Amino acid sequence: MLRALLVAPPGAGKGTQGERLADIYGVPHLSTGELLRAEVAKRSKIGLDVESFMHRGDLVPDELMAPLLLGYLTGPEPLSGFVLDGFPRTAEQAELAHQWGLASGITFNAVISLDVPAEELVERLVRRGSEVSRSDDTIETIRLRQQVYAKSTEPLLEYYRGRVILIEVDGTGTVDEVTRRIRE
Ligand code: AMP
Repeated sequence: MLRALLVAPPGAGKGTQGERLADIYGVPHLSTGELLRAEVAKRSKIGLDVESFMHRGDLVPDELMAPLLLGYLTGPEPLSGFVLDGFPRTAEQAELAHQWGLASGITFNAVISLDVPAEELVERLVRRGSEVSRSDDTIETIRLRQQVYAKSTEPLLEYYRGRVILIEVDGTGTVDEVTRRIRE
């Protein structure tokens, strides 16, 4: 049963690859970005609270993020498999994921990172901003999201490399090529 975490910079293809892997391995795809966007669209209490953070490209505080995600992970029955896309994004969240795993008797079997050169990431995000309307795909917000990734999320790769579950994949080329590399 696949229990994978996807850790990659904005625009690297987490969402696309996450959906495909979930389909291939028959497990749910849990994207924290999508869960949050759904709350914003519903105008729920949490949606209203997180909207401004997301709009400017900042991370949503853990006290809002963690209960939402844990609700989906644990649900009535803890999920036995999943592709978790967009979480963890900070050392604190990695610790939270670790503690959740310990408490539920679940180990993660892969942390997948996607490498894409910085200039290509910006191009991809600007293109996406013009195709699907995401209020955080503007050039200013993209820059901030990249800084947030470099400062808070990228150091996690070292942490997972140390735990020997990090799989680093070249994220350039076609969607099919990237999926094939991950599966290999
Ligand atoms: P994404 O769809 O993964 O690019 O996420 C979009 C936005 O949702 C991010 O820029 C953050 O504002 C928020 N977000 C998603 N996942 C997290 C997380 N694990 N922790 C905090 N904020 C998050």
